[in-house]
Amino acid sequence: MDKQPVLAFIGAGNMARAIIGGLISNGYPANKIWASEPDAERLSDLKVQGLQTTTDNNQAVMAADAVILAVKPQVLKPVTEAMKDAVQAKQPVIISVAAGILSTSIDRWLGGNTAIVRCMPNTPALVGTGASGLYANSQVSDEQRSAAETILKATGITLWVDEESQLDAVTAVSGSGPAYYFLVMESMIQAGKKLGLSEEVATKLTLQTALGAAQMASSSDVDPAELRRRVTSPNGTTEQAIKTFMDEGLPATFEKALQACNDRSEELA
Ligand code: NAD
Repeated sequence: MDKQPVLAFIGAGNMARAIIGGLISNGYPANKIWASEPDAERLSDLKVQGLQTTTDNNQAVMAADAVILAVKPQVLKPVTEAMKDAVQAKQPVIISVAAGILSTSIDRWLGGNTAIVRCMPNTPALVGTGASGLYANSQVSDEQRSAAETILKATGITLWVDEESQLDAVTAVSGSGPAYYFLVMESMIQAGKKLGLSEEVATKLTLQTALGAAQMASSSDVDPAELRRRVTSPNGTTEQAIKTFMDEGLPATFEKALQACNDRSEELA
């Protein structure tokens, strides 16, 4: 495979555009990217950016070394079945971002023996700070793995898992994770308002604190538990809040919540 393989995005919605935007701003040549959509109007801005566009998925597949399946999970079966002959003829690596669809199902719909990378991205991919869990089936070569990594790195960080079932845990931690942080922010804003702050002040302080804590934890060489201990002075103010969270069982609540998410992800697959 070429160092900069030809890519074909099947479906040019939010997730595809997040990845395409990241690739272009990282200097990936636009003319090496195909976007395929049934609605030609949705492709016009991508065409202006220099992408190759088509309303015929098979035309894009026949041109590509890597095919990114970026349609909604509920239409993946008919979409892949209609691409089967082109995929068997061209043998590109297939990268699926569709939540909850097993690689074995995609392989079957595509006629078997397909190199498939399944990926669980998350919504911060839309702003370049995503986290994606990746799983490769046994047909995927090292070269195809690194192509998949390059593509998904355009939206943030990538981490490989060895077992496809671990993507359920990835869903529980990072796939659904942004919503947990939004809930924490929502709760802190409400609590700040109850303590007498205006909505604007409570919101700005909460968001900047979340950003600052995430940046500190990401750039630090010690783990978050140690960072927490360092900012919790004995008999101080933070200790009172942390003690309340612990007495109310916050760590156990997180464990239960992530287990429930993991179980639901397993059920949907
Ligand atoms: P979206 O609706 O924005 O995009 C899907 C696109 O597919 C649409 O533009 C639609 O016109 C197009 N499409 C429909 N039928 C088609 C066909 N037959 N051939 C080609 N294109 C077709 O959806 P999205 O949010 O970008 O989600 C796409 C995938 O990404 C989903 O499978 C979802 O599970 C996954 N995903 C999205 C997010 C996210 O943050 N948006 C996060 C994780 C996973």
